[in-house]
Amino acid sequence: MITIQNNEHGRRILLLDSPFALEDSPDFPEHLFDAVFIFNDSVDAAKTILNTINPVTSVKCGYKPFFLSRSLEGKMGDYADLIDGYYDDWNDIHALNKVEDIISRRGELGLLAIEEKIVSANQFFVRLFRFLIIRNHLKLEMELDNSSATGYVLPIINVFYKLGWFSLSETFVFFQSMTEKGYLRPTRFINRIYLCPKCLHSHLLYIESCPKCGNSMIQSEEVIHHFRCANITPEHTYNFGGQLRCPKCHQMLHHIGVDYDRPATVFTCESCGNSFLQAQMQAVCTNCQTVSDVKSLVPQNCSVFEITKEGVLAITSLNIGFSVYTEFYDNFLEYDRFVNRIRLLAEQKFTGRITGDVLVGKIWILDATAATVSNRAELLAQVCKYFPNNKVSAANNITYINAVVTDYKGDQEQAVLDFQILLSEAIRAAAYVLRPGEKICYTYMKLESNGANIDKFLNDLQFVTATPDDSVEYHPDAINPNGAEVGVSPLLKDDGTVDSLYHAPTAAELLKEAKEELEMEANKKKTPVKRAISWLYVLIAVLAVVVLALGMVIVKMM
Ligand SMILES: [Zn+2]
Ligand SMILES: [Zn+2]
Ligand SMILES: [Zn+2]
Repeated sequence: MITIQNNEHGRRILLLDSPFALEDSPDFPEHLFDAVFIFNDSVDAAKTILNTINPVTSVKCGYKPFFLSRSLEGKMGDYADLIDGYYDDWNDIHALNKVEDIISRRGELGLLAIEEKIVSANQFFVRLFRFLIIRNHLKLEMELDNSSATGYVLPIINVFYKLGWFSLSETFVFFQSMTEKGYLRPTRFINRIYLCPKCLHSHLLYIESCPKCGNSMIQSEEVIHHFRCANITPEHTYNFGGQLRCPKCHQMLHHIGVDYDRPATVFTCESCGNSFLQAQMQAVCTNCQTVSDVKSLVPQNCSVFEITKEGVLAITSLNIGFSVYTEFYDNFLEYDRFVNRIRLLAEQKFTGRITGDVLVGKIWILDATAATVSNRAELLAQVCKYFPNNKVSAANNITYINAVVTDYKGDQEQAVLDFQILLSEAIRAAAYVLRPGEKICYTYMKLESNGANIDKFLNDLQFVTATPDDSVEYHPDAINPNGAEVGVSPLLKDDGTVDSLYHAPTAAELLKEAKEELEMEANKKKTPVKRAISWLYVLIAVLAVVVLALGMVIVKMM
């Protein structure tokens, strides 16, 4: 059953009791209903319905109030945070008020418009955080959950992680970036946990093993130190009919601390006979089966987070989009800033303040059905690196590169051609990101200097052409030209893996680096005279210490 009923406040309520392909159904467009009531007494059935019909990922239900049958109250587990109340009557006064509250809060936050279909992890997180902000759910409490990949998890995030909306590394990048920007603030530290360096799961088995052969069939035994003769050997060598007797001097041992002690534990490998003091500690990932040395596990701080005031403003603003990339590439611009920049350049061009050509290169990927695919972190990273002196942006499934080109010999055509050659090279360098059946294309747009068509030009940015200037097809042997250069953007891989070798600099390290740079510069600025004077000070200080020491020696001798 699926139907729409008016409630007593004239709001239209979508009522349903079983799974339904709502997103694809032309009979129930987004604008026909204001809230959703799911009437089903089964927890599993309600969860199944919520997997597709929910206020976060569903386009038609985005941010709308959601209610379940009264009988399910307290039973929805991780799904509970998606639900605004449990009622059997949509005219229940609390349900009526809740619907009005949520709709007015959406209005206050400027989030009444229907959102696009989610195509990237970033977009998902923005949507989820907007949902939480509308619910005034600003405190994010991590919970221990043995069914979650990372052990500590936000229940609502766990729901969508299990549904495959994002990878673990994308979660960490998002939280890290939001925290650095001050949009999220850790309010209470819970624990530092260690994750598998390959898949970031926390379900690890810790194995003590022999450092020589790696076998974990090892025995530990205490070592006894006999004070009298200084013999130090494993405990079993002292065993004498249930009593302790020194194997070297044959004296009986009586009191620990008086005639002997146990200074250490030794391990013996039952496989190779090796004796050692420190067993090798390894972690076996129960998810991907990788065996890692514990030193290479990825540390992760778990905290309770809070969405800050700045966070609420930024996340509800309509241009947050790809801002996460600005953390990694300083030539990356969010799309609306990129567009503003082009508009500014256009004004300068039309008023004759710049003579060069204003160009925008566009790169996109087509799948086997010739549809554009959503922007990939790897492609964006590659383009940012390939055009370090140009502004780069991404939106509409297109990666953009802005250039203002002037040829010093006055040959403008050659300057434009050079930019085209660069774009051709760039798509070849980026071809390794393609998947079977895909091809990568480029074209460019040139701003004409008549001034009339800037809005049309900006609008045309959103579209790709059926006849690109150049394209490269998927090839299984295509390689990453920066393959050896790991660690440039390790957290940005979109396949869910991170590079375990990567060590993100901490704030303290960055500060230290900056200080060192400053000091180096200050040193460079010192003139030889100043440097000589500072050396003189050091010399005087050393002399003073020597004189003082000598003086004290003399006083003592007298
Ligand atoms: Zn061994
Ligand atoms: Zn002894
Ligand atoms: Zn793993």
